[in-house]
Amino acid sequence: MAAKRIYPIFLTHVGCPFRCVYCNQNTVVSGPHDRMMAAPLLDRFTTDLAALAAEAMRSGLAGQVALYGGTFTAVPREQLQLMLDKVSPHVAVGVFTGVRFSTRPDCMGKDIRRLLADYPIETIELGVQALHDEVLVASRRGYTSLHVRRAAEAVRRGGWELGIQLMPGLPGDTRERFAETVSRTIELRPDFVRLYPTLVLTGTVLAQWYSKKAYRPITLEEAIGWCADAYERFVRADIKVVRMGLHADPALQAPGAIVAGPYHPAFGYLVKVHWWRRQVDGALANEQFTDGKTLLVKVAQRRLSEAGGPQRANPGYWMKRWGFTAVRLAGEATFADHQLEVRCI
Ligand code: SF4
Repeated sequence: MAAKRIYPIFLTHVGCPFRCVYCNQNTVVSGPHDRMMAAPLLDRFTTDLAALAAEAMRSGLAGQVALYGGTFTAVPREQLQLMLDKVSPHVAVGVFTGVRFSTRPDCMGKDIRRLLADYPIETIELGVQALHDEVLVASRRGYTSLHVRRAAEAVRRGGWELGIQLMPGLPGDTRERFAETVSRTIELRPDFVRLYPTLVLTGTVLAQWYSKKAYRPITLEEAIGWCADAYERFVRADIKVVRMGLHADPALQAPGAIVAGPYHPAFGYLVKVHWWRRQVDGALANEQFTDGKTLLVKVAQRRLSEAGGPQRANPGYWMKRWGFTAVRLAGEATFADHQLEVRCI
């Protein structure tokens, strides 16, 4: 099924009870932040919404209005209702299909669930980041894994689609702790997850900790390994991983925006390349084959570039590791997304 069209409105840091140690939304998304933030919230919202409604009508593609960049459910109730009151008529006439937003797990209680029930909410993304209490404390997130469980339950009770965002490599995180985070996330049965390895962004508390050597980000190699482990487990649990790594926004790529950390503009692709490498290794470990022959690797047509890797890195690796003289990668139109067939010919 094709992904729904998203019509985003960035409510940068709106509703956030405080600035999280790693967060600087202005370096993550381009936009006229200063001009927009100078205007009253409702005026900004109304202007953006009208522009998006016009775009949706022009294109004829209905989709979700997405409220990102802040803590939507912690916006003062009156304002929150006024914003949703403005969206609802557009949904009623089919310009948009509904609303999605991201929020903090400790801002998703019963009261807000009841309030949201009157509006066309479709998807709620919880900025969980970690499900290990020592990591949450070290990262000063201000909630525990119990809050996360309750928030996930509230989203489920509301009948909304549940998304969970995780940030491997936060202060106090380790590969083992992140593996626990993944296990607990799977227990929550979200509809989808996003993985954003922690970066040290300019203007953040984390950047100060980094300069004082009080925080060390994980390396790109570590981030790929941790996320490949997580990807494997989510795939097996039938939970969609819709994004890995921050979007390569010009604001993020501006000189000085990223102080340190495992950033790569094609991070998700690199994780999947690594994942295919491991899949084929796993299949070969269970195969009887004779050295010096050709390895045939069949995957879904649309997964060919991931299975091959940049500059066909994976075939080169398989030849070296397993002693093949050649590797043939073949795309199959009928294969499912993660289907793999490995043969020695
Ligand atoms: S991480 Fe989320 S809650 Fe924290 S400051 Fe950023 S937008 Fe607000």
